[in-house]
Amino acid sequence: MPEAEPDGWLHPAVEVRASDIAGRGMFATAPIPAHTVVLRLAAAPFGASALASLGSGFPNHACDPNLGWLNELALGAITDVPDGTELVVDYAMSIAEPDWFLRCHCPSYRCRQMVEGGDWRIAQLQQRYDGWWAPHVQRLVDEKQPPVAKGP
Ligand SMILES: [Zn+2]
Repeated sequence: MPEAEPDGWLHPAVEVRASDIAGRGMFATAPIPAHTVVLRLAAAPFGASALASLGSGFPNHACDPNLGWLNELALGAITDVPDGTELVVDYAMSIAEPDWFLRCHCPSYRCRQMVEGGDWRIAQLQQRYDGWWAPHVQRLVDEKQPPVAKGP
């Protein structure tokens, strides 16, 4: 289990400023290569209320994220992130509360419009986010999706 840092850690090439998505967002101020650690949290924000309490200390939600979970405390770049791009994560990657939902108007053609705590059950998302879910949600995905038999 990774050790929490008292105040968390933000990659030096990330700045927090006004976002078109909502309020303030996190933006790359230089290209960030795939798999780079972007944000480390002081405590695992599992649960919608814990996540909301982080405010601008946590990236905005979008349905076509460029960040995913490296472990229960760290977000990393899923793909190469160009300079100036807003860093976004799919909140359904870490919130699996049945009653939670979020209305989304992100510009992605993948926008689900209603993001819900049960979205980890969506087969397409299970595939797209494989290895990037927050660990406790990845476990749910793995349990629901028995490994495909391989070999002879
Ligand atoms: Zn969306």
